[in-house]
Amino acid sequence: MTQPLTIALSKGRILDDTLPLLAEAGIHPAEDIQKSRKLIFDTNHEHIKLVVIRATDVPTYVEYGAADLGVAGKDVLMEYNSDNLCEPLDLNIATCRLMTAALKDVEMPAGRLKVATKFVNIAKRYFAEQGRQVDIIKLYGGMELAPIMGLADLIVDIVDTGNTLKANGLEARDLIAPISSRLVASRASMKVKHAQIQPIIDQMAAAVERQRNINA
Ligand code: AMP
Repeated sequence: MTQPLTIALSKGRILDDTLPLLAEAGIHPAEDIQKSRKLIFDTNHEHIKLVVIRATDVPTYVEYGAADLGVAGKDVLMEYNSDNLCEPLDLNIATCRLMTAALKDVEMPAGRLKVATKFVNIAKRYFAEQGRQVDIIKLYGGMELAPIMGLADLIVDIVDTGNTLKANGLEARDLIAPISSRLVASRASMKVKHAQIQPIIDQMAAAVERQRNINA
């Protein structure tokens, strides 16, 4: 019996790169997601639905079983940090780096560092591994402003071209992790809906591989 299957997609820049991969796996939304304000979409498969939500909410929907599969950035998954989730496929899209950054040419103080970021859990783990004492300051955006205003010595943020840092007089310092978007599933749904999920993973993997060869 074909069970219903829900795939949670991250809104925004990741969505643009996800839809062609889904299309290559034969999954097409019934209407133009980009032009709609709806959050839930039928597809050409009667049993498959897509939900389009904030990237940071994708792991939550998948962990609690409200969605069977999701697409989310590795940054979001590292921050969410759940043992109940697995990442069956690296989609190799929305690639960037998670880095520390500071004002250009400014030395770090010897004692405790003030670190501003929206990635509080990642930053805590990273600096603990480094054996560095830090005070983490949670911000929701515009992290680059924090060192300029004296709120923080360092930020932890996503860097793609580096233009945002440069425009604000900052420079990237250390790489915390390379980032790309991942297919995410709960360990429970991988077991219960394996027969339905695995072909989607396989078809998307083939599409990722084709794309990799085109880019090579
Ligand atoms: P850039 O100026 O190209 O280094 O881009 C930096 C900003 O764009 C970051 O502060 C992020 O908010 C955002 N950004 C760039 N790439 C990504 C991505 N793949 N995922 C999430 N945010 C991104």
